[in-house]
Amino acid sequence: MELFGIRIDSVTRAEALDQIIRACQDQASLQVITANPEIALAAKEDPALRDLINSAGLVTPDGNGILLAARLLGDRLPERVTGIDLAEDLCRISGQKDLALYFLGGKPGVAQAAADRMARLYPGVRVVGSRHGYFRGHEEEVLADIKAAHPDILLVGLGAPAQESFIRRWQKDLAVPVAIGVGGSFDVMSG
Ligand code: UDP
Repeated sequence: MELFGIRIDSVTRAEALDQIIRACQDQASLQVITANPEIALAAKEDPALRDLINSAGLVTPDGNGILLAARLLGDRLPERVTGIDLAEDLCRISGQKDLALYFLGGKPGVAQAAADRMARLYPGVRVVGSRHGYFRGHEEEVLADIKAAHPDILLVGLGAPAQESFIRRWQKDLAVPVAIGVGGSFDVMSG
């Protein structure tokens, strides 16, 4: 459906997860955006952001505000699918599905703390790298580190829409099948 000029895909959390797993298996290039009311409103005023969102492979409804707005427009979206939902689901299945994850973002130490906590919660989780999100002027180093780690899925927590722009700019170059903007999820996941 369309909301404020942006496309929101009518997917459940389980369907979104399936699509992500399939993209990894197919070695596709899938950008996942979890659209919350803030980014939807920002896109309304920003045609470039709107185009970016509308050309992403998967745009999930992130937040009750989005579900409510859809309903007012006479449409129904099945449920909220947030960045942290997807991040935690992926950690849970990562070992079993042999999916390698990379955590990028948050203050120094936070992404690694999130990886450590996920390893305790979900034994077998494969986090192949982590890095903080304050790397202006050191982009080359960050990109090289991600490339060397060969993740299947890159979780980017730089805040929206910076993380969406980062993913669009670099995903192909990084050859990462799936990249997802997860906002402040690492702050929560780190405990
Ligand atoms: N962040 C970052 N680099 C920056 C700016 C922000 O890694 O240059 C991180 C910040 O530490 C936080 C996240 O991005 O973990 C933004 O979280 P917030 O909840 O504000 O974003 P939202 O979920 O609303 O997009």
